Amino acid sequence: MLNIVIFGAPGSGKGTQSARIVEKYGINHISTGDVLRAEIKAGTELGKTAKGYIDQGQLLPDELIIDILASTLDSFQDSKGVIFDGFPRTIAQAEALKVMLAERGQEVSIMLDLDVPEDELMTRLIKRGQESGRADDNEETIKKRLVVYHSQTSPLIDWYKQEGKYQHIQGLGTMEGIFAEIAEAIDKL
Ligand code: ADP
Repeated sequence: MLNIVIFGAPGSGKGTQSARIVEKYGINHISTGDVLRAEIKAGTELGKTAKGYIDQGQLLPDELIIDILASTLDSFQDSKGVIFDGFPRTIAQAEALKVMLAERGQEVSIMLDLDVPEDELMTRLIKRGQESGRADDNEETIKKRLVVYHSQTSPLIDWYKQEGKYQHIQGLGTMEGIFAEIAEAIDKL
Protein backbone atom coordinates (compact mmCIF):
# COMPACT_ATOMS: atom_id res chain seq x y z
CA MET A 1 0.00 0.00 0.00
CA LEU A 2 1.27 3.40 -1.00
CA ASN A 3 -0.31 6.08 1.18
CA ILE A 4 0.99 9.50 0.25
CA VAL A 5 0.23 12.80 1.93
CA ILE A 6 0.81 15.63 -0.52
CA PHE A 7 1.36 18.76 1.48
CA GLY A 8 1.97 22.44 0.84
CA ALA A 9 0.46 25.90 1.06
CA PRO A 10 -2.50 26.89 -1.14
CA GLY A 11 -1.18 27.22 -4.69
CA SER A 12 1.82 24.94 -4.12
CA GLY A 13 0.71 22.55 -6.88
CA LYS A 14 -0.75 19.68 -4.84
CA GLY A 15 -3.60 19.03 -7.29
CA THR A 16 -1.39 19.12 -10.39
CA GLN A 17 1.22 16.76 -8.95
CA SER A 18 -1.45 14.47 -7.45
CA ALA A 19 -2.87 13.85 -10.93
CA ARG A 20 0.56 12.76 -12.15
CA ILE A 21 1.13 10.52 -9.14
CA VAL A 22 -2.28 8.85 -9.73
CA GLU A 23 -1.37 8.27 -13.36
CA LYS A 24 2.04 6.75 -12.62
CA TYR A 25 1.28 4.71 -9.50
CA GLY A 26 -2.40 3.81 -10.02
CA ILE A 27 -3.53 4.83 -6.54
CA ASN A 28 -6.76 6.55 -5.49
CA HIS A 29 -6.93 10.30 -4.99
CA ILE A 30 -8.78 12.14 -2.24
CA SER A 31 -8.87 15.91 -2.56
CA THR A 32 -10.93 17.30 0.30
CA GLY A 33 -11.20 20.64 -1.55
CA ASP A 34 -12.64 18.88 -4.64
CA VAL A 35 -15.09 16.90 -2.48
CA LEU A 36 -16.31 20.10 -0.84
CA ARG A 37 -16.61 22.00 -4.14
CA ALA A 38 -18.68 19.12 -5.57
CA GLU A 39 -20.99 19.32 -2.54
CA ILE A 40 -21.36 23.07 -3.01
CA LYS A 41 -22.20 22.56 -6.69
CA ALA A 42 -24.77 19.90 -5.83
CA GLY A 43 -26.36 22.28 -3.31
CA THR A 44 -26.26 19.80 -0.40
CA GLU A 45 -26.48 20.76 3.29
CA LEU A 46 -22.80 19.88 3.64
CA GLY A 47 -22.05 22.10 0.65
CA LYS A 48 -23.87 25.02 2.26
CA THR A 49 -21.92 24.59 5.48
CA ALA A 50 -18.62 24.21 3.60
CA LYS A 51 -19.20 27.33 1.51
CA GLY A 52 -19.40 29.49 4.62
CA TYR A 53 -15.94 28.42 5.72
CA ILE A 54 -14.31 28.30 2.29
CA ASP A 55 -15.46 31.80 1.29
CA GLN A 56 -13.92 33.12 4.52
CA GLY A 57 -10.64 31.30 3.86
CA GLN A 58 -11.18 29.28 7.06
CA LEU A 59 -10.85 25.55 7.66
CA LEU A 60 -13.90 23.37 8.20
CA PRO A 61 -14.19 21.90 11.71
CA ASP A 62 -11.95 18.86 12.15
CA GLU A 63 -14.77 16.43 13.08
CA LEU A 64 -16.67 17.26 9.91
CA ILE A 65 -13.74 16.87 7.52
CA ILE A 66 -12.51 13.71 9.30
CA ASP A 67 -15.97 12.10 8.79
CA ILE A 68 -15.91 13.03 5.10
CA LEU A 69 -12.45 11.55 4.74
CA ALA A 70 -13.38 8.30 6.49
CA SER A 71 -16.38 7.72 4.23
CA THR A 72 -14.37 8.51 1.08
CA LEU A 73 -11.67 6.07 2.23
CA ASP A 74 -14.30 3.36 2.79
CA SER A 75 -15.65 3.84 -0.72
CA PHE A 76 -12.38 2.60 -2.28
CA GLN A 77 -12.18 -1.09 -3.06
CA ASP A 78 -9.12 -3.12 -4.04
CA SER A 79 -7.10 0.05 -3.63
CA LYS A 80 -3.34 0.07 -4.19
CA GLY A 81 -3.09 3.09 -1.94
CA VAL A 82 -4.27 6.66 -1.64
CA ILE A 83 -2.93 10.13 -2.21
CA PHE A 84 -4.28 12.53 0.40
CA ASP A 85 -4.47 16.02 -1.11
CA GLY A 86 -5.57 18.87 1.17
CA PHE A 87 -5.80 16.56 4.19
CA PRO A 88 -4.51 16.60 6.90
CA ARG A 89 -4.47 20.35 7.49
CA THR A 90 -4.27 20.34 11.29
CA ILE A 91 -2.48 18.20 13.87
CA ALA A 92 -5.85 16.75 14.95
CA GLN A 93 -6.49 15.65 11.37
CA ALA A 94 -3.03 14.07 11.10
CA GLU A 95 -3.64 12.14 14.31
CA ALA A 96 -7.07 11.02 13.04
CA LEU A 97 -5.53 9.88 9.76
CA LYS A 98 -2.93 7.87 11.61
CA VAL A 99 -5.65 6.09 13.62
CA MET A 100 -7.86 5.55 10.56
CA LEU A 101 -5.03 3.94 8.62
CA ALA A 102 -3.85 1.88 11.61
CA GLU A 103 -7.38 0.48 11.95
CA ARG A 104 -6.98 -0.75 8.38
CA GLY A 105 -3.51 -2.16 9.07
CA GLN A 106 -1.86 0.66 7.16
CA GLU A 107 0.19 3.80 7.63
CA VAL A 108 1.30 6.92 5.78
CA SER A 109 4.22 5.93 3.54
CA ILE A 110 5.55 9.45 2.92
CA MET A 111 4.63 13.10 3.32
CA LEU A 112 5.71 15.25 0.36
CA ASP A 113 6.08 18.92 1.27
CA LEU A 114 5.85 21.08 -1.85
CA ASP A 115 7.86 24.12 -0.85
CA VAL A 116 7.05 27.30 -2.79
CA PRO A 117 7.94 30.91 -1.85
CA GLU A 118 5.05 33.09 -0.73
CA ASP A 119 5.21 35.66 -3.56
CA GLU A 120 5.00 32.85 -6.11
CA LEU A 121 1.97 31.37 -4.30
CA MET A 122 0.16 34.73 -4.49
CA THR A 123 0.91 35.08 -8.21
CA ARG A 124 -0.26 31.54 -9.01
CA LEU A 125 -3.49 31.80 -7.00
CA ILE A 126 -4.49 35.18 -8.42
CA LYS A 127 -3.93 33.78 -11.91
CA ARG A 128 -5.95 30.65 -11.09
CA GLY A 129 -8.79 32.85 -9.78
CA GLN A 130 -8.87 34.79 -13.02
CA GLU A 131 -8.87 31.63 -15.14
CA SER A 132 -11.12 29.29 -13.16
CA GLY A 133 -13.27 31.76 -11.28
CA ARG A 134 -12.70 29.83 -8.03
CA ALA A 135 -14.43 32.05 -5.48
CA ASP A 136 -11.72 31.73 -2.84
CA ASP A 137 -8.91 32.65 -5.25
CA ASN A 138 -9.22 36.41 -4.75
CA GLU A 139 -6.52 38.49 -3.10
CA GLU A 140 -8.32 39.05 0.20
CA THR A 141 -9.27 35.38 0.73
CA ILE A 142 -5.87 34.14 -0.46
CA LYS A 143 -4.18 36.25 2.24
CA LYS A 144 -6.49 34.74 4.88
CA ARG A 145 -5.77 31.21 3.60
CA LEU A 146 -2.04 31.82 3.85
CA VAL A 147 -2.40 33.03 7.44
CA VAL A 148 -4.43 29.89 8.24
CA TYR A 149 -1.77 27.77 6.53
CA HIS A 150 1.01 29.27 8.65
CA SER A 151 -0.86 29.06 11.94
CA GLN A 152 -2.78 25.76 11.67
CA THR A 153 -1.26 23.68 8.87
CA SER A 154 2.51 24.30 8.73
CA PRO A 155 3.06 22.76 12.23
CA LEU A 156 2.46 19.45 10.42
CA ILE A 157 5.93 19.76 8.92
CA ASP A 158 7.52 19.09 12.32
CA TRP A 159 4.85 16.51 13.16
CA TYR A 160 5.68 14.43 10.08
CA LYS A 161 9.41 14.93 10.66
CA GLN A 162 8.93 13.33 14.06
CA GLU A 163 7.03 10.48 12.43
CA GLY A 164 10.01 9.97 10.09
CA LYS A 165 7.80 10.48 7.03
CA TYR A 166 8.82 13.95 5.90
CA GLN A 167 10.22 14.62 2.42
CA HIS A 168 10.99 18.12 1.22
CA ILE A 169 10.21 18.80 -2.45
CA GLN A 170 11.40 21.90 -4.26
CA GLY A 171 8.05 23.24 -5.54
CA LEU A 172 9.54 25.84 -7.90
CA GLY A 173 10.49 24.80 -11.40
CA THR A 174 8.81 22.98 -14.26
CA MET A 175 5.94 20.59 -13.56
CA GLU A 176 8.07 17.77 -15.02
CA GLY A 177 11.10 18.64 -12.90
CA ILE A 178 9.04 18.73 -9.72
CA PHE A 179 7.37 15.44 -10.60
CA ALA A 180 10.76 13.82 -11.25
CA GLU A 181 11.84 14.73 -7.69
CA ILE A 182 8.56 13.32 -6.32
CA ALA A 183 8.86 10.07 -8.29
CA GLU A 184 12.45 9.63 -7.10
CA ALA A 185 11.32 9.94 -3.47
CA ILE A 186 8.42 7.50 -3.97
CA ASP A 187 10.55 4.96 -5.82
CA LYS A 188 12.98 4.87 -2.90
CA LEU A 189 10.24 3.68 -0.52
P1 ADP B 1 -5.96 25.12 -1.55
O1 ADP B 1 -5.00 24.13 -1.00
O2 ADP B 1 -5.61 25.61 -2.90
O3 ADP B 1 -6.26 26.26 -0.61
P2 ADP B 1 -8.21 23.20 -1.40
O4 ADP B 1 -9.02 22.96 -2.62
O5 ADP B 1 -7.39 22.08 -0.88
O6 ADP B 1 -7.37 24.48 -1.75
O7 ADP B 1 -9.18 23.69 -0.20
C1 ADP B 1 -10.08 24.76 -0.34
C2 ADP B 1 -10.78 25.05 0.98
O8 ADP B 1 -11.54 23.90 1.42
C3 ADP B 1 -9.87 25.36 2.17
O9 ADP B 1 -9.48 26.72 2.19
C4 ADP B 1 -10.78 24.98 3.37
O10 ADP B 1 -11.76 25.98 3.61
C5 ADP B 1 -11.52 23.76 2.84
N1 ADP B 1 -10.79 22.52 3.19
C6 ADP B 1 -10.18 21.65 2.30
N2 ADP B 1 -9.57 20.65 2.95
C7 ADP B 1 -9.77 20.86 4.28
C8 ADP B 1 -9.36 20.20 5.47
N3 ADP B 1 -8.60 19.10 5.43
N4 ADP B 1 -9.74 20.72 6.67
C9 ADP B 1 -10.50 21.81 6.74
N5 ADP B 1 -10.91 22.50 5.67
C10 ADP B 1 -10.56 22.05 4.45
